[in-house]
Order: sequence, then structure tokens, then C-alpha cells
Amino acid sequence: MAYDSTNIFAKILRGELPCISVYEDEATLAFMDIMPQADGHVLVIPKEAGETLMDLSPEAASAVVRTTQKLARAVKQALNAEGIFVCQLNGAAAGQTVPHCHFHIIPRSGGDPMRI
Ligand code: 5GP
Repeated sequence: MAYDSTNIFAKILRGELPCISVYEDEATLAFMDIMPQADGHVLVIPKEAGETLMDLSPEAASAVVRTTQKLARAVKQALNAEGIFVCQLNGAAAGQTVPHCHFHIIPRSGGDPMRI
């Protein structure tokens, strides 16, 4: 399906919508999720336009995974989390609601309720 450049994350990338940014480089942006599943829930997106992971160039896919690893380490340390849940949904049938590729980074600690 053609990429819909009116999606929320495309607007964030263009500066048309605000976000709480926590990291940016030439290929990726990371920001706080507006409806966090846990404190410290971060989203990582490629700057390249692509609806799913399968739509990205190898370079953009590598960059978004590198940033996800970097931010997962940082979030784990900052929040002293016992674990980090990383997930990434592709297509509405898989539960994806924003049609711009993104990775979720969600800190987890023993006993806290799983809401995703
Ligand atoms: P998905 O269900 O597509 O994997 O996840 C989309 C995520 O984007 C959800 O966790 C949702 O809370 C988040 N989200 C939706 N709209 C906004 C927004 O305007 N700003 C931010 N920061 N996050 C958003």
C-alpha cells in the first residue's frame, strides 16, 4: 500500500506536531509515547517514509534497530528496569495503528501489569 504522508509520525517528523523527543540522528527519531504502557515507554522511528519494517531500505532498517538498541539500553539504565519489552507491529491486522514504521521500547519489572 502507498505510504500515507498525513500519518501522525510523518507530521512529527516534519515538525507539524509536537513530541517529547529523547534522541535524534540523521536517520532516526525517538520520542515518548503519548499513551505509555509503562513509565518510560519510548517509540523509535526511521526518518525514511515506510509503513512497515518490510517497506524500509536495508539502511533505514539497520538504523532504526541500532537506535532501538541504544535507547533500550538507556531506558533500562535510567529507570533501573528489570527488563525491556521491545515490539514492532506491521499492518492493521497485526495491531499497527500508526502507518509509519515504529519500535516500542517498554520498561518492565517483575509483577507490573502487561498492558500491551
Ligand atoms: P501501534 O499500535 O501502531 O504499534 O502504536 C502506535 C503508538 O503510537 C501507540 O502506543 C500510541 O500511544 C502512540 N501514539 C499515537 N499518537 C501519538 C502521538 O500523537 N504522539 C505520540 N508521541 N505517540 C502517539
